[in-house]
Amino acid sequence: MKRLAVLGHPVAHSRSPAMQSAALAELGLAEEWSYEAIDVAPQDFERLVRAMPGEGFAGANVTVPHKEAALALADTASQAARQIGAANTLSFDGGGIRADNTDAPGLLAAIAALPSAPSGGRALVLGAGGAARAAIWALARGGADVDLAALAVDVWNRTPARAARAHAELGGRAELGGGPVEAPRQQDYELIVNTTSVGLRGEDPFAELPLREDDFASGQIVVDMVYGEGLTRLLAAATAAGATTLDGIEVLVRQGALSLELWTGGRTAPLDVMRDAARD
Ligand code: NAP
Repeated sequence: MKRLAVLGHPVAHSRSPAMQSAALAELGLAEEWSYEAIDVAPQDFERLVRAMPGEGFAGANVTVPHKEAALALADTASQAARQIGAANTLSFDGGGIRADNTDAPGLLAAIAALPSAPSGGRALVLGAGGAARAAIWALARGGADVDLAALAVDVWNRTPARAARAHAELGGRAELGGGPVEAPRQQDYELIVNTTSVGLRGEDPFAELPLREDDFASGQIVVDMVYGEGLTRLLAAATAAGATTLDGIEVLVRQGALSLELWTGGRTAPLDVMRDAARD
């Protein structure tokens, strides 16, 4: 039996076990592979990961708050993981620990699959945490495997110094401060990506973020990494304006699909099955 897991703290809410187990079953691998959730506190993370290969694990997804620690303990890492500074996928092939970041290409794949992918205009990333760093890195470079042009990326964050740092390290074009004077002009962007956690606990995005509920436009693409039950307030407003929207579940599915393909040596992940399981 080859074991897989998602490591987080907390992790009980994760949709990855249902999504990945459904994918393994669809691929006919359910007898050979299993996927579970493991709640591990930060002080226990490294010890647990180092023990995993000996306990039959072939790999793991890594979520909040362990993505930086996952990169730090790996023997080898992809260029994306190194440059972003975080890993969401570990593989235990051949004795060593390899770190990858599938959040970045997962976001690109999800955007590229939209009916109207952006054509190289301006993108606004809201946030400067782990999810933002993957988004900025990905959007500023564009897709190698997917047909998506590099975008000029502006970064806004509530704490402007973090936006400045992300911009300097990851290649966004300009950072914008969080105050009312430096607020970005919503209509200027072809793509707007919310990577903040605003909305997760019922916060009002139009009070916390530099966006107006009535200022989206029909040509825009709006992505909300936050997901819960149904449309977030942000995506509801974007939908009402006729914008194209992408929710956090689809981004989750895409990163999970790429992780599964890494572990299984290139088997094609069943996206529809994963999507249904993640949304269930
Ligand atoms: P993180 O590193 O903790 O960053 C949180 C970000 O949210 C920071 O930029 C923070 O700003 C901002 N923020 C928090 N509260 C805010 C408020 N009231 N007003 C304005 N900004 C606020 O978290 P993360 O790992 O980047 O994750 C962020 C969100 O993305 C979470 O909801 C997570 O579940 C989601 N996510 C989804 C996926 C997916 O596949 N769909 C993948 C990764 C993450 P400051 O710097 O000012 O604190």
